[in-house]
Amino acid sequence: MNEQNAYFPHMYAERMGALPPYLFARIDEMKAKKMRAGVDVIDLGVGDPDLPTPPHVVDELCRAARDPAHHHYPSYSGMPDFRAAVAQWYQRRFGVDLDPKEQVLALMGSKDGIAHIPEAFVNPGDYVLAPSPGYPVYRTSTLFAEGRVHEMPLSAENHFIPVLEDIPRKVASAAKIMFLNYPNNPTSAVTRKGFFEEAVEFAREHNIIIVHDNAYSEIAYDGYKAPSFLETDGAMDVAIEMHSLSKTYNMTGWRVGMAVGNAEILSGLGRVKTNVDSGVFDAVQRAAICALSGSYDSVREACHTYQERRDVLIAGLRKLGFSVDSPKATFYVWMPVADCMAFATRMLDEAGIVVTPGIGFGSGGAGYVRFALTRSSDRIREALGRMEAMAP
Ligand SMILES: *Cc1c(COP(=O)(O)O)cnc(C)c1O
Repeated sequence: MNEQNAYFPHMYAERMGALPPYLFARIDEMKAKKMRAGVDVIDLGVGDPDLPTPPHVVDELCRAARDPAHHHYPSYSGMPDFRAAVAQWYQRRFGVDLDPKEQVLALMGSKDGIAHIPEAFVNPGDYVLAPSPGYPVYRTSTLFAEGRVHEMPLSAENHFIPVLEDIPRKVASAAKIMFLNYPNNPTSAVTRKGFFEEAVEFAREHNIIIVHDNAYSEIAYDGYKAPSFLETDGAMDVAIEMHSLSKTYNMTGWRVGMAVGNAEILSGLGRVKTNVDSGVFDAVQRAAICALSGSYDSVREACHTYQERRDVLIAGLRKLGFSVDSPKATFYVWMPVADCMAFATRMLDEAGIVVTPGIGFGSGGAGYVRFALTRSSDRIREALGRMEAMAP
């Protein structure tokens, strides 16, 4: 923050005050301080793949960037070829039929869709149902729209799946949107049989839009195949799904994703976006088409790499006496600890390891820390060695 900015916080709008303190920024500061002090920090906090984007996708971007046809404002909803490639991918991968014209919308990453959907549907005071712990943007996007967040607790006892009967009827009837996310960040849980059907029924009964965040569908192990929410009977009537190339193809920096599903819901989101951005760079969409319609080898290799790291980390943690489940999907390991802030602080201070305290994902995350498998097996082994050397 530059010096001048220091004079303006008193002018912040009230809704800025409603935002939760950004814990991740504080952790970044603590990490930077350690690094300045010469500590070789192992960052197992970041949800950003360390693996590169597949070379054929990078080549396609370079080619497309040189084509002057791509140097103009993109279309708002995405190039027809991009939307067709998304529809074909959904058909191939999930057996879900999408009309590329009406049921696919290009996004600048799924965060774009998540951040803007409440603007289209939430009036001040309306409820939004969001998992806790959960991806922080479900909550902040609701607060920007001046909606109220009702946290759906995710507990180990319920396999980190919300118990819909626990949502008070008054809240359900005043709710506009329910965010769901399986495979889940940060708990790494996958959905259970029947849950998506229950969610569709709940949405129909209470007139709620379901926004399913499927950012991790391709990051899965031991033969697990994550479904699309849209495979569920009736889902197309009540739901949209956010997806992106970020995690699947190591493209977090490229900012390209898609919202798919119910055409009327998408059209509301599209109308908001027309007023805040001007679409995804056409050359990036060309590269995305190349990724979606090309070889799956890079995805399989990435999963293989994460799986190896997962096995190293889980075995090591168990050897150290921690009780921790091995995830079927996502690149996260979610581990119960007595006090997540104290644990994360000690890990950084005494071992130079960054882990994310669960409380950063909402009150339901208290008592857990999240390890990201976004560092090499060697670095994970090094981290385990340092943990072993820590005073008990
Ligand atoms: C990474 C992530 C996203 C956002 O990814 P984009 O890069 O914006 O596509 C969305 N949801 C969850 C749960 C994530 O972990």
